[in-house]
Amino acid sequence: MTYTPTDYLPYDFANRRHIGPSPAEMEDMFAVLGVRDLDQLIDETVPASIRQVEPLDFGKPKSERELLWHMAQVAKKNKVLTSLIGQGYHGTVTPPAIQRNILENPAWYTAYTPYQPEISQGRLEALLNYQTMVSDLTGLEIANASLLDEGTACAEAMTMAQRVAKSKANAFFVDENCHPQNIAVIRTRAKPLGIEVIVGAPDDLDASKVFGAIFQYPGTHGHLRDFTDEIAALHAAGAVGVVSADPLALCLLKEPGAMGADIAVGSTQRFGVPMGYGGPHAAYMATKQQYARSMPGRLVGVSIDSHGNRAYRLSLQTREQHIRREKATSNVCTAQALLAVMASFYAVFHGPEGLRAIAQRIHRKTVRLARGLEAAGFKVEPKEFFDTITVDVGLLQQGVLLSAVREGVNLRRVGETKVGITLDELTRPATIEAVWRAFGIILEDKDFTPDYRLPDGLLRQSAYLTHPIFHMNRAETEMMRYMRRLADRDLALDRAMIPLGSCTMKLNSAAEMMPVTWPEFGQLHPFVPADQAEGYAELIGDLSQKLCDITGYAAISMQPNSGAQGEYAGLLTIAAWHEAQGNGHRNVCLIPTSAHGTNPASAQMVGWKVVPVKSTENGDIDLEDFRAKAEQYAETLAGCMITYPSTHGVFEETVKEVCDITHAHGGQVYIDGANMNAMVGLARPGDLGGDVSHLNLHKTFCIPHGGGGPGMGPIGVKPHLVPHLPGHPETGGTEGPVSSAPFGSPSLLPISWAYCLMMGGEGLTQATRVAILNANYIARRLEGAYKVLYRGKQGRVAHECIIDTRPFAESAGVTVDDIAKRLIDNGFHAPTMSWPVAGTLMIEPTESETKAELDRFCTAMLAIREEIREIEEGKIDKANNPLKNAPHTMEDLVRDWDRPYSREQGCFPPGAFRVDKYWPPVNRVDNVWGDRNLTCTCPPMEAYADAAE
Ligand SMILES: *Cc1c(COP(=O)(O)O)cnc(C)c1O
Repeated sequence: MTYTPTDYLPYDFANRRHIGPSPAEMEDMFAVLGVRDLDQLIDETVPASIRQVEPLDFGKPKSERELLWHMAQVAKKNKVLTSLIGQGYHGTVTPPAIQRNILENPAWYTAYTPYQPEISQGRLEALLNYQTMVSDLTGLEIANASLLDEGTACAEAMTMAQRVAKSKANAFFVDENCHPQNIAVIRTRAKPLGIEVIVGAPDDLDASKVFGAIFQYPGTHGHLRDFTDEIAALHAAGAVGVVSADPLALCLLKEPGAMGADIAVGSTQRFGVPMGYGGPHAAYMATKQQYARSMPGRLVGVSIDSHGNRAYRLSLQTREQHIRREKATSNVCTAQALLAVMASFYAVFHGPEGLRAIAQRIHRKTVRLARGLEAAGFKVEPKEFFDTITVDVGLLQQGVLLSAVREGVNLRRVGETKVGITLDELTRPATIEAVWRAFGIILEDKDFTPDYRLPDGLLRQSAYLTHPIFHMNRAETEMMRYMRRLADRDLALDRAMIPLGSCTMKLNSAAEMMPVTWPEFGQLHPFVPADQAEGYAELIGDLSQKLCDITGYAAISMQPNSGAQGEYAGLLTIAAWHEAQGNGHRNVCLIPTSAHGTNPASAQMVGWKVVPVKSTENGDIDLEDFRAKAEQYAETLAGCMITYPSTHGVFEETVKEVCDITHAHGGQVYIDGANMNAMVGLARPGDLGGDVSHLNLHKTFCIPHGGGGPGMGPIGVKPHLVPHLPGHPETGGTEGPVSSAPFGSPSLLPISWAYCLMMGGEGLTQATRVAILNANYIARRLEGAYKVLYRGKQGRVAHECIIDTRPFAESAGVTVDDIAKRLIDNGFHAPTMSWPVAGTLMIEPTESETKAELDRFCTAMLAIREEIREIEEGKIDKANNPLKNAPHTMEDLVRDWDRPYSREQGCFPPGAFRVDKYWPPVNRVDNVWGDRNLTCTCPPMEAYADAAE
C-alpha cells in the first residue's frame, strides 16, 4: 500500500476545537456576506484607528496532550499538605458522585443564569434545595441562591442592615472574633460609603451607637457565644443583628434565628466544595421574610405556569440592577450557582443525620486533640468549642508551626505566641497524632474517650432539613438519577447554542476543565505558605502577563470574583489614586444610559454620583452630551464607565475622543471589558485610553457559566494605578481587599490559562475574528425579516447584533417575551432580552458555533417571523397562536388539542430536533403570581408527585 499524505488537520490543531465553522463553511459564509475573506470583513468592521499594531504572540500553541502534561508539571509545584488553618476554609469530601455528575458534567456547568425559567427548572430546583437548606440551618425564613464569598457576604449584610435598620446611626459594629479577611472586606466596603466600622469584643457593644452588628459563630479562634442578649439590645435600639455562621457547626449548635438574628451569612464551602486556594465556593445569606425585598443576590421562588402547575423562577430582585441602576440594592450579578448546587446536593446526599454525624465526629476529634495537648501540659483555649482550638505555646510558636509542616500539616499562626488548629471532615487519627508530634508530644495512651465540649445552652434544639427531599433514598443509583433528571429539564450549552448578547456563552473545552478537579489545584487552603503554592504563582504570573498583553495594561489583580466585583475594584482603585493626588473630592461618574446595570450599581458602591450620558440615534455615545457633562462636572469628575465595543454591538469610532475628554477634565476611564470577545488580538482597551478594565474570564476566557456562577472578574490597570490595586491582610498591599481570598477564585484560573496556551496569540485572534464573522452572518441572514439595529460605518456589527421586535407589538400583539418563549419550542435559549434597548433581542453567537447551528437558529427565527406574519395577516388568532402559547410541553401534545394550529406546528417548529427534541417541563411561568405569593423554600412533597412521574 502506498502512503498518501493528507493535509487534513485533526481537531486539536489549528484550533478546530474552539472555532465552530469549518474552513469550507467559512467560505460559504463569506459568500453570503459578500466578502473575499475574513481580513476584508474585519477591515470593514473594526476601525483602523483602534486596531492594535503588534499581533498577539504567545509562542507555539500547545496541543491538548502537551497542555495537560504542562499543567501537570505546574500542578506538581503546588504542595498538598493537610491544612488545619481554618479561618473559614476547611478540608471536605466532595462525594465522587457529585464531582462526576455535577462539577464535571457540562449539563450542569455550561448552563446560563436561569432568567428563562422554563428551560431552567432543574437547576432552579437544586437552588431551591440550597435555599431551603440554608434557611433550615440558620433558622431564618428566607435565603438567597448564593453570594460570592463569606467576606463579601458580610459586607452585603452590613449595607443591607443599613437599608433596613430603624436606627439612623452611622456605625457598624464588627465582632473582633470575625475572620480577619471578613473584617478587612467589611472595612473596604464601609470606607467609601462613610460608614464607621467599630471592631471590638461583643461585651463592649453599645447598641445605641450603631445601625447593626456582625458576630462570627464560632469565632475565628474557636469561641462559642450566645448572641441573644446582644441582638436583643440591638433591636431595642432599632439596629440589626447579623451572625456569620459556619453551617456545619449549626448542625449541632443553636441557630442564629433562635438568637433573634435578622441576617445570617457564611460560606457553604465545607459542604463538599474543595478549598481551591480560595475559591470558588458559595456564600449564603438568610434573613427574615420581611426583609426579602432588601436582600442582595438572586432568590429562587415558586410560582405556577400557564396551566397552574408548580414552576420555579427567579423572583423579586431578578435583574434588578438593570431596572434600578444606581438605586440597586447591590451589584451582585454573577454569583456562585454551581457551587451552591454542589452544596445543596451534599446536604441531599447526607441528609440531616449524615450532616449531624459529620459535625459530631469533627467535634469529637477536636476534643481528643485538645485532651492530648492538655495532658502534655499545654493551655488550650477556649474551654468550649466546635472544631477550632487555640494553643498558647509562647516562644515555641515558630518551632511548632515548622514541625507541623514537616509532619505534612499546616497550622494557623495566631498572634506572636499562639497556634490555631481547626479540624475537618478529612481529619484522621493519624492527622491528630501528627499534630501532637508537632507539639513534641509522644503519647503512650492515645485513647482519650472523647466527651462533648459544646456549651449546654448552645445545643441546637430545633430540627432541620425535615423536607422529604433531604430524606430520599440515598442509594447512589437514586442520587445519580435525581441529578440526571434535573439536568435533563434544563437547556444548557451541551445541547444548543445560547446566543446571549454580552454574555459570551462559548465552548468550555474538556481539556481546559480537567485540571480544575486535580487535588494540586483543589486542595490548597488560601493562606498556605507561599512555598506550597509555587504552581499557582507560576500560573497566576503567566496568565496575568498574557492578559496584560491582550489588554494593554501594566498589571492585573485576580481578586474580584465577578465582572461586577471587577467594576467595583476598578473604581476603588481610581478613587484611591484620586485621593493620593489630593483629589479625594472627585466623585462624579459619567455613564451612558445604555450601560450594563452593574456599572451604575458599582459606582454607587464607591459613593460616586452617577451622571447619565445620552446615546445617539445609532447607539453611539452622544459625544456632545458627553463633552457638556464632562465640562459641567470638571471640578468633581472622577471618571467615566464605558463599554467597548458598545453594548449596542458597535465599534464606535469616537472612543478615543471620549477617553481624551475624560482625561482632559481630570477623570479616569473605566472600560467595561465584558465585550473583550470582540477585541482579543485586534484592539486593546489600554491603547484606546482606558485606565482600568475588568475581564469576564467566565465570558471571554472560557470559564463556564455554571448556571449563574462561578466567575472571575480580574482587573487590568495602567502603571499609575498599580500601587492602588486591592491588597489583602495575608499578602499585603496598601489598599483593602474586595474578596475573602487574595486571588479570588484561583482554582478556576487553569481554565483560562489552558485556553490561552492551547489557542496561542494567533488562535485567540482568530477566535475574535470568527466571533465577528458569526455575528455578521446571523445579522445578514435575519435582515429583511427583522430590522437589525445599530451598525458600524460600513454596515457591519461587532460580535453581537440587536434585532428590533418592537414593531410586532403593534402589528401582531407579539412581545419580545413571546419570541423568547417560542424559541424554546425550536430548541433554543433566547438571546438577551430587552437590553440595552427594551423590546429588542441581542444575539451573540460566539466563535464556537458551527455554521450548521447558526443556520438552525436562523431557520427558527425566520419561521417565527412567518408565524408573526400570519397573525399580522389575520390568518391566525391574536390570542391563541403558537407564540402566545409557547413554550409547548409534552403534556400539551397529549392533551385535547383545541388550537387553531397543528400539534406538529406547535411542538416541532422548524429548527427543533425530532429525535433529540428538547421538551420544557413546564409551560410559560407566571412571574406576577410568584412575586405575589412569595415562597422561597421547597414546597410540600405532594407538590412533587406529578413532576417526578
Ligand atoms: C456580564 C456583564 C457584566 C457583569 O458581569 P458579572 O460577572 O455578571 O458580574 C458587566 N458588564 C457587562 C457589559 C456585562 O455583559
